[in-house]
This record gives sequence, C-alpha cells and structure tokens, in this order.
Amino acid sequence: MKSTSSPTLILNKAGKILNVNEAAIQLFNLNLTYIGYLAMDEPSNLKWAKFVKQLQCDLRSEEIFNIRTTGNEFEMLSFKCFYDPHTEEIVAQISTLTDDIAHQLYVSQVHEKSQSFNAYDYLPYAVIVSDASGIILGLNKYAEMFLKVESSQLLHKAHQHIFDSFTLKKGQITTYLSKLMGDKHASIHVVDETQVSSTCYYEISSIFDEYNNIIVTVINDETEKKQLQHKVEHQQALNVVGQMAASIAHEIRNPLTSLKGFTELLKLNADDESRMYLSVIDSELQRMEQILSELLVLSKPTTMKMELLELDHLVKQVVEFMLPDAMMKDIMIQYISTSQQVYIGGNESRLKQVFMNLIKNAMESMHSGGTITVEMITNDCSIAELMIKDEGVGMDSATLQNLFQPFYTTKSKGTGLGLAFVKKVIEEHDGIIAVNSELQKGTSFHLQFPIYTFNQMDTLEVPAKNSAYLVT
Ligand code: ADP
Ligand code: MG
Repeated sequence: MKSTSSPTLILNKAGKILNVNEAAIQLFNLNLTYIGYLAMDEPSNLKWAKFVKQLQCDLRSEEIFNIRTTGNEFEMLSFKCFYDPHTEEIVAQISTLTDDIAHQLYVSQVHEKSQSFNAYDYLPYAVIVSDASGIILGLNKYAEMFLKVESSQLLHKAHQHIFDSFTLKKGQITTYLSKLMGDKHASIHVVDETQVSSTCYYEISSIFDEYNNIIVTVINDETEKKQLQHKVEHQQALNVVGQMAASIAHEIRNPLTSLKGFTELLKLNADDESRMYLSVIDSELQRMEQILSELLVLSKPTTMKMELLELDHLVKQVVEFMLPDAMMKDIMIQYISTSQQVYIGGNESRLKQVFMNLIKNAMESMHSGGTITVEMITNDCSIAELMIKDEGVGMDSATLQNLFQPFYTTKSKGTGLGLAFVKKVIEEHDGIIAVNSELQKGTSFHLQFPIYTFNQMDTLEVPAKNSAYLVT
C-alpha cells in the first residue's frame, strides 16, 4: 500500500482516514502522527453520506468530492472506492479530474480490446480481466462455469464480486486489494469445506499489468494437487507403521496363538467361575488379534479375495451384529435400506470390519444414547452410497484433519488404527470416503462404492492390488 503510485486511502464509513500511502500523504499534506477526517466542503460532506450508503450496496462506486489538499486549497477529486463488508472499511483510489478523464478514455480502449480478443476462452482455468480501477471488463468461459455466473452478471461490476462465491475470512479482501495496489500482485488461498464429497482448494491470484493498465485475475483449482499431497503424506505415515507393524506382528502373533490354544485347553476342565474368567481372556485375546490384523493390513501391500457382494445384505448383517452392544448403551441403530439389490466387488471380511469400525466409533461418540442411522442410497446406477450418521459429540477441526492418520486417537483407550484401516480398505475397493461433522451435533461418514454388474464378475477373480491375502 505504501508504495502505490496513485494516492490511496483506507477510510471508515464516517470518512475517517485509517491508512494512507505516500502519494496520499503528499496530496493531502497529512501529518502521519495524526490522521484525521477528510476535510471536505459542506456539499461534499452531504454527498459523502449518500455515497457511502450506495457503496455499501454496490461494493464499488465512484464520485467526485471537493477536498482540501496541500496549501489549504480545495480541489475536485475523483474517488474510486471499494467497500469491504467484513471490515466495513473503504479503500479509496484518488485521482485528479484531468487524470480521470484520460483514464476513462484509456479504459474504454482496453474494454474494446478485451471484448474483441477472446483468446482467454481457450485457457483451461478461470481468467477475469478488470481495468486498473477494478471494474470487470471480461471473463473467459471457464470463469463463467467456475463461478457459476453468466458473464453479463459480472461485467462492469467491482472486482471484489469475484469473491462472492467463496467464503473468506474477515479482512481478507481488503488485505488482498491493498496488496494488489501496493505490490502490483496478490493472491489468496481459499479452502471450501462446503462440498460433501471432499474439501476443495483454490488459489486466486491477480497481477496488475502496467503496460496494458489492466488487472488479470486467475483462479486455479488446486484440489487435485492438495489431495495428492495428502495422499503422499498418508502413504509416508503408513510406511512407518508398516515397518513397525511387520516386526511387532511377528513377535506377538506366535505367543498369541499359543495363548489361544492353551485357553481352549483350560476350558475343558474349568469350573463355572474359571469359565467366566476364561471368556474375558478370550475376548481380550480377540481384541488383540483385531488390533494386530488392522496393523498388518496397514503395514504392507496385501491381496484380497474379491467377490461379488450384495451390499444391503452385508450391511444388515453388521447392523444386526452390533445391535445388542448398542442397546446396552441406550443407542438405537436404524437401518434405512434401498429396495434395490446392489452388488459391489469386494472382500467380505474386510468390508464388515470397515462398517463395524465406523459404527463402533459412532457408538463411542454418543455418551448419552441416541440414534445411529445407517442408510443406503443409490441415486446413480453406477455408485452405491452408504451413510453412517451419529448424534454424538462431533469433531473439532484438528480431529477432522488427522482422523485418518494411523495412531491418531482422542480416546484414552483408543488405538487410532480404526479409520486408517477403513480408509485403506475403501481405497482398495476403488471407493471414496468423506466425513461431515459438527461439534455437539454429530458426525456422518459417507462411503461410495462402484456398483458391479454381473458382466464384471470375471474381473473379480484377479487378485487385487498385487498383494498377500490376510486372514483377519
Ligand atoms: P480410535 O477409535 O481408536 O480412537 P479411529 O481411527 O477409529 O481410532 O478414530 C480416530 C479418531 O477420530 C477418534 O479418536 C475420534 O476422535 C475421531 N472419531 C472417529 N469417528 C468419530 C465419530 N463418529 N464421532 C466423533 N469422533 C470420531
Ligand atoms: Mg475407532
């Protein structure tokens, strides 16, 4: 802002100067230690109030005011103003009237140029061209598609309307515009978490092209790049788990098998009391086995026996299995099934484990009872969607960012392996997993699987993802 060549001010709605650049200090002969109100004549003062009202609606507007400048002289100055509704601040670019008329002429020439030159239309990203004062002159087809607007809705509007379809933090637009005016370029990274399927990432960057006196803004969809980055990070974490798990599994699996064998032997001659203790030992051994098997699935590439599975039937079996446990905790599991029979290609035991993990997490998040809804949706004939929704405590943003990382847990007795296992298995099934959560309201996991037809059955006999079948 300080290095902008044209005089620029940041004002509040009452006309109080909040920030200025060098050029403005010189024009108004301002004393930096005391920055006060704009000194206007009486008619301009009245005009200002009306102007600000209109500016709040349009976000961008121009007007001429009679202002006291250096040497106590009054001068008619043109104010090109942008209003940021978040901070309620006004960024005003000031030009003398002679400058302004020349500028208008220039802008109309650029406008003609940008209308006849449609090369931007062929670029595979959104491009928006504005004049130097921030009036949108044109946008390419991709930008129309991306911002979901007709070009006529944005043409001749203020540059900041580009941001209308994004959720930005307070003050971000003002900072962006100030930086653009000062450094001649600016960029913002936007995270859109409103999409159900996945979080989207965009980079919006503008460059002031001094030669042509225009601002070129480009919107890049960085979602795929970020998703890849997350995948690599996840894979790296899995590799570490892999090395650890391989050695731990070796060490523990064998003694575990002996323990199981001897427990069975002990059961033969046990009295009632001993049987009770032995059944506790049994269930604890099962839990150890399950942790071990989740670790092993995460640890290395595995092969799975893939078969054609009827999803509705599979989910029903899991729900019925979990129901008694849920009832003990005052939790109801309602299953809303689809009337259609939907087949997917998958591994039965692993998918069951996935659904169990998700329902178990849902149960663990509901401390005072409630309902878990498991729903199958098949709007699309190629995708089967399963939703598991709870009325639990929900997740904060730190948990949402890390929940699929191995060993990430917020529970005192958690392993943090459940969801890492779920994610890996879903990906091995060419599926997608997404999550929505609100603190104190609940969480819903959405799983999507490609639907198989009987013609695709042959492909299922081929071992998937070139690896070793693991009995869990
Ligand atoms: P664990 O259950 O052993 O903690 P998971 O990988 O299954 O490990 O889950 C990781 C973390 O994700 C949990 O500790 C919890 O904080 C969070 N989480 C998972 N599912 C839910 C849910 N349905 N509601 C709230 N938090 C959840
Ligand atoms: Mg869990």
